[in-house]
Amino acid sequence: MSIMPGAMLGLLGGGQLGRMFTMAAQSMGYRVTVVDPSDRSPSTGIADRHLRTDYLDSDTLRELASTCAGVTTEFENVPAESLRILAERCVVSPAANSVAVAQNRILEKNFLAANGFGVAPYAVIQNSQNSNNSHNLNGALSHKQPELFPGLFPGILKISRFGYDGKGQTRVNNSIELDRAFTGMKREPCVLEKQLPLESEVSVIVSRGFDGEVTTFPVSENQHRNGILDVSIIPARASPAIIQNAREIAIRIAEKLDYRGVLCVEFFVLANGRLLVNEIAPRPHNSGHYSIDACVTSQFEQQVRVLCGLPLGSTAMHGAAVMVNLLGDLWQKGEPKWEQVLRHPYVKLHLYGKLDARPGRKMGHYTVLAETVEAALQLALEIKQSLEQQLLEHRAPVN
Ligand code: ADP
Ligand code: MG
Repeated sequence: MSIMPGAMLGLLGGGQLGRMFTMAAQSMGYRVTVVDPSDRSPSTGIADRHLRTDYLDSDTLRELASTCAGVTTEFENVPAESLRILAERCVVSPAANSVAVAQNRILEKNFLAANGFGVAPYAVIQNSQNSNNSHNLNGALSHKQPELFPGLFPGILKISRFGYDGKGQTRVNNSIELDRAFTGMKREPCVLEKQLPLESEVSVIVSRGFDGEVTTFPVSENQHRNGILDVSIIPARASPAIIQNAREIAIRIAEKLDYRGVLCVEFFVLANGRLLVNEIAPRPHNSGHYSIDACVTSQFEQQVRVLCGLPLGSTAMHGAAVMVNLLGDLWQKGEPKWEQVLRHPYVKLHLYGKLDARPGRKMGHYTVLAETVEAALQLALEIKQSLEQQLLEHRAPVN
């Protein structure tokens, strides 16, 4: 039975993805209760209700289950246990089991590899004993043991949990650097991954309903800077075979996980056109923000639709789009000059209402719409340059 407009929906996490989910849900007539321990997160100001507690708080979970028809999450590191408890009493999407795999790099890589999805060569690095396919670093490694990880150097050591935007990752060239980096990560479980020469990176947002209906959004080509998504170009400038392959792999991953919800699959594209799965995120994704302005249905409306058991919306795109992230660095000299963005009739500005503009923090984005990718990219980069120009200009001296 579908959950119809007017109902209250629950959301774990109050970040920008939650804000955009809340806006999509409210515009369709739903109400939203957000759980977030902070009182200043992007979605708490606009939600119909805010429960300001930890995600595992038992009163909160009871309250959510009794007042909400369905609960979802915007936040990769939501305790899977919360979703498991809620699922005993109300509709939950995505399920605890899927989230548990996606939020743990070791489980994620092992799941992908075990099911035949190509991933970068990797090894699990952990302190504890005997686990398959894992290497135990109990004492310090010496440079005499490079054979421990044949072919994985130069590599990237990635912490298994709670990493994002390139945080919790260190480049390592040999076993000594590996040991140092592992100690730097407090010897928490990690994955060592071979650093690959990437032709490009692409991602696919796939949505799968409770009835098994599946849609994919157009494939996005993603450019990162300092490990953080910088620019997304849609449709991706890749061959039709790569595009089709990316969509098919994303659907197969959603099916293998028995996933119900919106899932992002990030890929590496190698020079020979081969696709490797980088990681999966159990929620809408930064690389899908373009869908708000460029598609019939946004990734956030699709999240509402899955949760509420509605038929999925069309993911057809109106034209080409380029999305550019606005990081806190841009605020170094005060509020950016938004007229540089707003003066263009086919450019859409989104700001997340965050109060502190720290470097590397995602503050907003803009999406340029055009008939062709080339035209969208050109204008997107011109605007980007004009915003960054402001940082180079000297302030007029104050007497
Ligand atoms: P996060 O969770 O921070 O998004 P990712 O594993 O996706 O972490 O890494 C962030 C970015 O770093 C990737 O999008 C890619 O640009 C680069 N990167 C990560 N792993 C590799 C790798 N094995 N080879 C080359 N580049 C990589
Ligand atoms: Mg990533």
